[in-house]
Amino acid sequence: MRIVFIGPPGAGKGTQAERMIEKYKLAHLSTGDMLRAARDAQTEVGKKADEYMSTGRLVPDEIIVEIIEERLAQSDCQAGYLLDGFPRTIAQAEALDKMLGEKGTPLDVVLELKVPEEELFQRLAGRGRADDTPDVIRQRLVAYRDQTSPLLDYYGKTGLLESVDGLGTIEEIFDRIQAILDPKAS
Ligand code: ADP
Repeated sequence: MRIVFIGPPGAGKGTQAERMIEKYKLAHLSTGDMLRAARDAQTEVGKKADEYMSTGRLVPDEIIVEIIEERLAQSDCQAGYLLDGFPRTIAQAEALDKMLGEKGTPLDVVLELKVPEEELFQRLAGRGRADDTPDVIRQRLVAYRDQTSPLLDYYGKTGLLESVDGLGTIEEIFDRIQAILDPKAS
């Protein structure tokens, strides 16, 4: 299965992603994790990305699209993957469509984890990552609202979008996700 996982910062995507990759045997492609690894390794891409990440802004599309293109070509992605944190802009979604169109491997589902904004701020403020300071959190929520949430319309029109209520226990939410993915898993 090829899955795109969309949700605002703090929605709990990481937790659910771990369960999904284990159950459905998917490669986990988290652009946030990839960028943090590049930053910690002090690569050129990592240093450039950090300028954006540390202020809560999105890293430029060209950088991200190149990272994803290289990653998708690796052998562990051929059996299926979960894209977590990508695409985050319409331009990234269009680039992804083009890549997958050329390979003849379309997406199977776009899963949205839905959590109200008031709840997100609370959760993020209690987490303690380097980019979890109040100003940076606010900026990340703005980036989601302005640049990422238009993807819900974009994928809504393709018929691929499935929305899951992200409030409840980890188990309850994973049950909702399984109800959507089980029928698509073969
Ligand atoms: P969260 O969803 O909790 O904000 P992520 O770990 O997904 O965090 O991403 C952290 C940061 O990495 C983002 O704030 C952004 O700066 C950068 N980033 C991750 N994925 C992308 C992407 N697809 N496009 C642009 N920037 C990205």
